[in-house]
Amino acid sequence: MHIHPDARSVVRALAPDEPVIINRPHAAERAARFFVEKFPGKSLYAVKANPSPDLLQVLWNGGVTHFDVASIAEVRLVRAMLPQATLCFMHPVKTPRAIREAYFEHGVKTFSLDTIEELAKIVEATTAEDGTPAADLRLLVRLRVSSDYSELSLASKFGVDLVDAAPLLQATRQHCDWLGVCFHVGSQAMTPFAYVQALERVRAAVAEASVVIDVVDVGGGFPSVYPDMEPPPLKDYFEVIHRHFENLPIAYNAELWCEPGRALCAEYSSVVVRVEKRRGDELYINDGAYGALFDAAHVDWRFPVSALEDDLRDPPQEFAFYGPTCDDADYMKGPFMLPGDIQAGDYIEIGMLGAYGAAMKTGFNGFGNAQQIVVGDEPMASLYRGDRERPVTDNVVSLR
Ligand SMILES: *Cc1c(COP(=O)(O)O)cnc(C)c1O
Repeated sequence: MHIHPDARSVVRALAPDEPVIINRPHAAERAARFFVEKFPGKSLYAVKANPSPDLLQVLWNGGVTHFDVASIAEVRLVRAMLPQATLCFMHPVKTPRAIREAYFEHGVKTFSLDTIEELAKIVEATTAEDGTPAADLRLLVRLRVSSDYSELSLASKFGVDLVDAAPLLQATRQHCDWLGVCFHVGSQAMTPFAYVQALERVRAAVAEASVVIDVVDVGGGFPSVYPDMEPPPLKDYFEVIHRHFENLPIAYNAELWCEPGRALCAEYSSVVVRVEKRRGDELYINDGAYGALFDAAHVDWRFPVSALEDDLRDPPQEFAFYGPTCDDADYMKGPFMLPGDIQAGDYIEIGMLGAYGAAMKTGFNGFGNAQQIVVGDEPMASLYRGDRERPVTDNVVSLR
């Protein structure tokens, strides 16, 4: 495989007419090793953030052995790629057929749920034809927690409310020898406190239910770095989670899990786009809302940008982007800071698109093509380079 040094050399070599996805496997592998070595428990990769088979292999090489899958298609994909991987089906609403196939054909034992109906569904779908119930289920009850400290909420859709958690935990315990609690604090949690309030809710639920808990899964939400979103170091999150986990009223040998998506793969990809037209401070580029820039358009996420030209002299100014399709919704307000003399024909690297970016490209309006190319330089920002270390900050001290 040919590895280009960086995005500029890709532009020089190809002068691409269509957007190009630039991948940095070394950055994803470094993120994987960081979680594997530093998180005080087991790290499951949340496949939905980016299901690219190349990336799955890179994360496996980096030491990730457990995968959080949410659909039968993700189960099949990861199983086909990585026969030895442990798969955990962590979507709280599944079809009976998906559960059955996952359990009987792909060896999936771990499932999450947030209602008594889903528990019944899992139990029934994993019962053998002769009526023998599964003896090896590992079930996690998903608790609803606040998303107040995160940039993207996951609080409304899933999770049992604290008042209903105890009976559900007790009922679930009847069907498995291995019981867990999980939650998701929302994506891009900007402070470790997000996990503290969630773990306090776990404490309350477990205390009331008086059941033995074998695993606490703190979910995803670990941040990456974007313009105006500079989180504290990840080790602050790990320390706070570990401390509060150790104080929970659970089995002495209980495990701690997490399910990072974004934090493991954000640095993996950029997209290289070309400016096709300029209108004042609006740039018409060849990727957008239906491509790798869904979040830029729909939740006004700001991604780092860099012009890939040598002849631009003007100081940076604010630009908005239009994508290539024919509708007004294909608009990204940014602002994106680029040299004031940028013009049609110039190329731009848009960074940190490995999570929920490159994976979400569609073919709408005929604009879905994108070559994938590997480069060897550093991502536009990184949480793992070792130069972001700072002492445990007020972020943590102010927790309680
Ligand atoms: C989306 C998701 C994740 C990953 O979330 P990030 O914010 O990307 O870390 C983890 N667990 C579950 C259940 C999810 O739905």
